[in-house]
Amino acid sequence: MAHPILVVEDLTVSFDGFKAVDSLNLYVEQNEVRVIIGPNGAGKTTLLDLICGRTRATQGTIKFKDKELTGLAEHKIVRAGVGRKFQTPSIYENLTVYQNLEVSFPRGRSVFGALAFRRTADVTERVERVAEEIYLRDQLQTEAGLLSHGQKQWLEIGMLLMQEPELLMLDEPVAGMSVRERQQTAKLLARVSADRSVIVIEHDMEFVKNIAHRVTVLHQGKVLAEGSMERVQNDPRVIEVYLGH
Ligand code: ADP
Ligand code: MG
Repeated sequence: MAHPILVVEDLTVSFDGFKAVDSLNLYVEQNEVRVIIGPNGAGKTTLLDLICGRTRATQGTIKFKDKELTGLAEHKIVRAGVGRKFQTPSIYENLTVYQNLEVSFPRGRSVFGALAFRRTADVTERVERVAEEIYLRDQLQTEAGLLSHGQKQWLEIGMLLMQEPELLMLDEPVAGMSVRERQQTAKLLARVSADRSVIVIEHDMEFVKNIAHRVTVLHQGKVLAEGSMERVQNDPRVIEVYLGH
């Protein structure tokens, strides 16, 4: 592997002696779509919590573009270029699609108040580009609360894209989506990974097959198998603990 953008080594988190993530190594390349699968309780969500700084590691390192992330506050990890989407969408239901995207534009340290920033051509341009990408170009003036479940998921991905993260992490993004929405989401992820790396946790194997460059199988906080979809699918240990059920 040439020079991975994300290097996770010996990562461990212990909750009262229980290791939810246990001496884990993970290397993700630039422009790679990595899918993480594994049974419930395997430590998948906890791994994302550790990378985005929501949970503190007990041991190990997380390097993103050679910068150590362990110990950094969540907002600093966002500023370093890591965006993370949780399982349930956290959009502003009372704001329009446009406004949801607009408030997600990174403002850095400015003299303006949190919401009273200038509506520069820059912001408008990016809102429109992102809206196009997430299939909501014609819904910019729609109140977010009126969108379908799938569209809300896309909007939240769009809110992350507004910050132009170099690593995008998504926890079960197609749960509850229709077949057509899943296909559109697969296309969306293929497009966005042209400019960045993506880590996706997913259970839908059809979707995984569609999007994954490589698959990592987690089990009891450890990497059980890793490689192409084809390779992990035929791994007897993976069939035993996950795919066979
Ligand atoms: P997955 O996303 O793979 O289903 P999780 O990462 O959510 O699994 O959970 C892994 C294990 O860690 C589970 O047994 C879960 O109960 C436990 N766990 C997760 N977060 C905490 C926490 N804050 N305190 C105690 N146990 C936790
Ligand atoms: Mg989970």
